[in-house]
Amino acid sequence: MNKPSPQSLDRLRAAVGPKGWSDASEDLAPHLVEWRGRYQGATPLLLKPADTSEVAAIVRICAETQTAIVPQGGNTGLVGGQIPCGDEILLSLERMKSIRALDQANAAITVDAGCPLKIAQDAAAAENLLLATSLASEGSATIGGIVSTNAGGTNVLRYGMTREQVLGLEVVLPNGDIWEGLTGLRKDNTGYDLKQLFIGAEGTLGIVTAATLKLFPRPQSQMTAFCAVASPAKAVSLLGQIRTASGNQVSTFEILPRRGLEFVLKHGGTAKDPFSQSHPWYVLMEVDCALRDRDELMKSALEADLLEDAVIAASLDQAQALRALRERLSEMQKHEGSSIKHDVSVPVSAIPTFLEEATAAVETACPGIRPVPFGHLGDGNIHFNLSQPTGMDKDLFLARWEEMNRIVHDIVAAYGGSISAEHGIGQMKCEEMLRYKSVTEIEMMKGIKHTLDPLNILNPGKLITP
Ligand SMILES: Cc1cc2nc3c(=O)[nH]c(=O)nc-3n(C[C@H](O)[C@H](O)[C@H](O)COP(=O)(O)OP(=O)(O)OC[C@H]3O[C@@H](n4cnc5c(N)ncnc54)[C@H](O)[C@@H]3O)c2cc1C
Repeated sequence: MNKPSPQSLDRLRAAVGPKGWSDASEDLAPHLVEWRGRYQGATPLLLKPADTSEVAAIVRICAETQTAIVPQGGNTGLVGGQIPCGDEILLSLERMKSIRALDQANAAITVDAGCPLKIAQDAAAAENLLLATSLASEGSATIGGIVSTNAGGTNVLRYGMTREQVLGLEVVLPNGDIWEGLTGLRKDNTGYDLKQLFIGAEGTLGIVTAATLKLFPRPQSQMTAFCAVASPAKAVSLLGQIRTASGNQVSTFEILPRRGLEFVLKHGGTAKDPFSQSHPWYVLMEVDCALRDRDELMKSALEADLLEDAVIAASLDQAQALRALRERLSEMQKHEGSSIKHDVSVPVSAIPTFLEEATAAVETACPGIRPVPFGHLGDGNIHFNLSQPTGMDKDLFLARWEEMNRIVHDIVAAYGGSISAEHGIGQMKCEEMLRYKSVTEIEMMKGIKHTLDPLNILNPGKLITP
């Protein structure tokens, strides 16, 4: 890929006008480092187009001059996909954030790609509708970002990943053409479903400029409960029991170990332990059910010996406080030194044995290591995060990142699992993906990339190299 010439950069600046670009280091800085501080990037130019036609003009110039582009939304991605490595221009969608339309009868919303997810959720809520994708980063993560990473989050169990929310997309292709695919149709069997290519493509196949997303009726009444359980095996049985008893109304089912709760209690300011004694594991559960059914649901779980104890939120504030015990865990883990992360999935039924095996393996390899496996148990998705041994040098521990990945990912593969359940590949897992996907899969992915982006100008070096 070419280092952009001064003439190319001038043409790009002209395409967006004075409000649409910057090369000042103070403007670039927040765009060049990601949430975990793992990737520090560089770019000759930050572009902030105002609309789809400006995005298309930028991409046409980049195609002509063979200039690489990294699209960026809210910069909350966790695998470095949104961080440019040097010669790429950075295209931020931050000025494109309007709600284009909300069709109540069709239960669909059409939103610009740079709109933060929370703003779109609030627009839906104002019409008593639910935009189902929900993540701890929703205040900053954008519609284009959640589509491009096929984000998961806490509502996947009931509503599915972002892919299942997308009805249509508008995308600027690598040659600068605009694909106007913003349909609100729920049925359309006219050949290949092209939007699927761009969902989870991490900006390597096109720049998403708008999306039409499904909406649902808002649950009339929801129970938020924080439960103490004896083991992950009990948690899996509890999930089955509550799903059946509630008629499949469980939207959130998150697990965390005692060590994780302790991190939140220690560093989380006002956070309080909901129970008077400690328990080995906890589940945060949300179920759409009427007030009168709540006690019955929990009673049946207690009688089946699946619960040690449980607290049901009696107000919205209490529900928020219980949710925060799970949501703040990643942030609080930072106070315990460095950590090596894994975002993996295995079949739900295999979670208990996977956790046992992986925990024993990392503890043998690195005595004193503090595993904090937590996450979306209902989807089989565990964030198998490893905090450094107390007192160990941070960098010495991080130097073992690949060794720990190998141990954990090989066990995941043996269970037929995935090495990236929801965060994607980005620059972090390119090599790792080559190890675990078959040659046939990699060749199909390369073929798609080459067909849509033969010049390899969109997010090169991320996800797949041609
Ligand atoms: C505290 C925290 C909690 C999180 N929780 C979850 C979680 O529960 N589940 C989950 O799945 N993720 C989670 N994430 C990860 C992250 O929030 C999601 O991946 C999110 O979807 C990224 O959105 P973004 O707008 O910030 O995208 P960015 O970080 O800006 O970009 C992510 C990727 O998408 C590409 N991209 C962005 N916008 C576009 C566009 N318009 N067109 C084409 N490509 C584009 C980028 O090039 C990059 O490859 C979490 C992150 C944090 C910091």
